[in-house]
Amino acid sequence: MSNVPAIALNSGASIPQLGFGVFQIDPKDTAATVQTAFEIGYRHIDTAQMYGNEAEVGEAIARSGLPRDELFITTKCNNSNHGYDESQRALDESLSKLGLEFVDLYLIHWPLPGKDLYVQTWQGLEQAAKDGKARSIGVSNFKSHHLDRLAQETGTTPAVNQIELHPHLQQPEMRAYDQQHGIATEAWSPIGQGKGVIDDDRIGSIAQAHGKTPAQVTLRWHIQLGNIIFPKSVTESRIRENFDIFDFELTDQEMSTIGELDQGKRLGPDPDEFDR
Ligand code: NAD
Repeated sequence: MSNVPAIALNSGASIPQLGFGVFQIDPKDTAATVQTAFEIGYRHIDTAQMYGNEAEVGEAIARSGLPRDELFITTKCNNSNHGYDESQRALDESLSKLGLEFVDLYLIHWPLPGKDLYVQTWQGLEQAAKDGKARSIGVSNFKSHHLDRLAQETGTTPAVNQIELHPHLQQPEMRAYDQQHGIATEAWSPIGQGKGVIDDDRIGSIAQAHGKTPAQVTLRWHIQLGNIIFPKSVTESRIRENFDIFDFELTDQEMSTIGELDQGKRLGPDPDEFDR
């Protein structure tokens, strides 16, 4: 039905490589926007407790009438909910807002090293998975030293690590670490939040050569690298455009041209310094 590739996770589940992100979508627009995404063919939604729009995502899921097993729904444990009990209680709240019995993926949103509770929080996620409330569990914004500590203290490996990743911040070491440890890499802000990355002339020329837009070329670069992506938009034509990336292929030369655009430049905070 859909030509979105699936990526196998270490939990045994599989995730559609392209989804739809709802960060900064106003709750009043969220149900309609997610409904549009479902109509276009998206089946994977990336939300979070922090985004304040889980109930509206739930509304769109209920209205869609889509079978549960066709959907892949991710939410994330908020920074205010770190801790073994808190992370599980927070998931119960999310499930109730989403109108679901389980999420497909539950992530720790940020490691918050200053709080120093991410190991206990992870153990809460492990319990939630055992209880059948999350099919897969993972982390977001973790660096290799945070992941090493989880491995040492709990012995389990997250299914995914969701990190800031786009042509201006390519994170080669983190991607290699994830790959070596069987962790799937999810790329947040895949088109650099719609500024800078997609204005680059070299991406523009590649786009022209394929009769595609710079956003489509950037998303296609992620797909060919094996990253999982969920671009965000509230504009129907862009939601459609971002889904239409499976009828062309970038050459090795074009992949390396984009590979040269890395500036190591973050748009968001450094996870070692972000503590709120
Ligand atoms: P993005 O790279 O997806 O960019 C979105 C912006 O780009 C839109 O607001 C719009 O202005 C523009 N845009 C979208 N489609 C376009 C197109 N076809 N052409 C031109 N401009 C276009 O950035 P994002 O929203 O920050 O990231 C995507 C998703 O990643 C979020 O919705 C969220 O689900 C997730 N995310 C996670 C974290 C985290 O800490 N885990 C942080 C940020 C985002």
